[in-house]
Amino acid sequence: MDLLCIISFKKFQQGGDTLQIAIIGAGAMGSLYGGYLSKINNEVYLVDIWKEHVDKINDKGLIIFEGEEEILTKPKAYTSSKGLNKVDLAIIFVKSIHTEAAIKDNLSIIGENTKVLTLQNGYGNFYDIEKHISKDNIIVGTTSHGATLLGPGIIKHAGKGQTYIGSITEGGDDEVLLEIKRILEKAGFETTVSDNVLELIWSKLFVNVGINALTGILEIGNGELLDHEETREILTLAVSEAVQVANGLGMDFDEGKIIENVILVAKNTAENKSSMLQDIINKRKTEIGKINGAVVKEGIKLGIRTPVNKVLTNMIKVKERI
Ligand code: NAD
Repeated sequence: MDLLCIISFKKFQQGGDTLQIAIIGAGAMGSLYGGYLSKINNEVYLVDIWKEHVDKINDKGLIIFEGEEEILTKPKAYTSSKGLNKVDLAIIFVKSIHTEAAIKDNLSIIGENTKVLTLQNGYGNFYDIEKHISKDNIIVGTTSHGATLLGPGIIKHAGKGQTYIGSITEGGDDEVLLEIKRILEKAGFETTVSDNVLELIWSKLFVNVGINALTGILEIGNGELLDHEETREILTLAVSEAVQVANGLGMDFDEGKIIENVILVAKNTAENKSSMLQDIINKRKTEIGKINGAVVKEGIKLGIRTPVNKVLTNMIKVKERI
């Protein structure tokens, strides 16, 4: 451990509850994590460019619906991080299409010792962050929590699950990971430190690869994908390509089991509209580049053909424009 790491870790050790934490991108998920982190007395700053949401949080607090129960939290919210101190931990929760811009906009609060955590969906957010932040300070992970924005200053905690964090570089610091786990758990997020976080990211990606683009293009719910032989076939082919790419990157996934799992998720979430379908309906840019697009990109590097993912990516890109 070099001197800077030791100082940074000491800050984590001593100041567990007074760490300065910024949530960059405080929509549904950023508000969920930021709201609950603020309840354990951390200095938590929500940074989001959506002014109405920020104003409402500062005026009335941030409300998190847990079923029928309303939980009031009081993080401080800002439309810009200019003027704020450097933070100990920055959690990135913008949609993956905005990752690089959000990092650039908020570089002034990210110091040499700031740990930057991404729990966003998709593969490749790490690479966008790494363009501006030292690799050893980046922590990646996944979350199985779900949240929905109900309006400015109000979100719904839609589903609970595990948070996984880990490092994908040699220089990752286990003590810092354990400290972040402790803070997240204190805020109510059950967290596991994984030394296989890349596999967890791909496991989640397979589900999104199979369900998101197809439901977005056809504008159907998750369950309907299983009602047609043709959509089952496209889902299977897209996931199969993604497994080949992941295994080309050095992982060891069982294609049959992965496909079975994606089908099971579609069945269990039959009534849900995927996030990509919601983005298409609401005329927003999607996260296609970090989902099916990421499979294509990594496939090209490895010399693995991914025609089905290429078609799905291109169709979503056109849908975003029309
Ligand atoms: P969201 O659209 O609700 O929130 C994103 C927020 O980022 C918005 O409020 C937007 O104003 C803000 N933003 C955009 N550019 C910014 C910038 N430059 N600086 C600061 N803020 C900026 O999205 P979400 O549903 O919270 O999803 C965030 C990430 O988490 C995505 O990668 C998503 O796939 C992932 N995720 C979402 C869920 C879920 O249930 N919503 C579950 C797991 C993972």
